[in-house]
Amino acid sequence: MINTLDEQQKARNRLLDNFSKIALYLSEPERKQFYKYLLLTFDFGIKNGIECAYFWGDNGFIRFVSGDTGNTHISDDICEAFNEKENIPLSITHNHPKSIAPSYNDINVFLKYPFKNIVVCGHIGNLYFLQKDQYIIKISDDENEKLLNSLRELYKNIINKCLQVNNYTAEDLKNANDEIQAAYFRIIDELYFDNICKRADKGRFIFKHYKEGAK
Ligand SMILES: [Zn+2]
Repeated sequence: MINTLDEQQKARNRLLDNFSKIALYLSEPERKQFYKYLLLTFDFGIKNGIECAYFWGDNGFIRFVSGDTGNTHISDDICEAFNEKENIPLSITHNHPKSIAPSYNDINVFLKYPFKNIVVCGHIGNLYFLQKDQYIIKISDDENEKLLNSLRELYKNIINKCLQVNNYTAEDLKNANDEIQAAYFRIIDELYFDNICKRADKGRFIFKHYKEGAK
């Protein structure tokens, strides 16, 4: 947990340091917007201890959502509405209080809707970066369906492997307490993101995790 002001400041510095590593993937105007919304996201998260997401585009702010961890903030409902807007591409800055990997849902909406960039920042100052190549912001429905299906399979396989290792069944997991479930999904989401990082090798997507930064 990030408790003291000193630790918060260190985490904030670490985040800025990690942000400087993604700057090369961004245009100059994007960089300025990212800087602003990333810090707004991080500061809101640290102050309130909950999740939030800023949606924004080239013309600035579009929407802000927040709530307790575990709820789906970047929901299909919200994203569908963006689908109809002309003001694309859009970016999202989002925080995870427990500094864990983007959830299955986070990655899904990134691929499914016309978002160009998503940054998920952890409260320890780590940063997960997802970006689509500028020419494929809107993937064809067919291709998208195939991609989402293959990732769904990948996610299921990772869950099954994690369960096998512990001689656990899906039923056991469903009946387990919140703490055990959270621990499982923490590992599962991390493995899923690692796997996607390895797959995103054709120059169409960028998936990165920056942990280090300033001490
Ligand atoms: Zn999330």
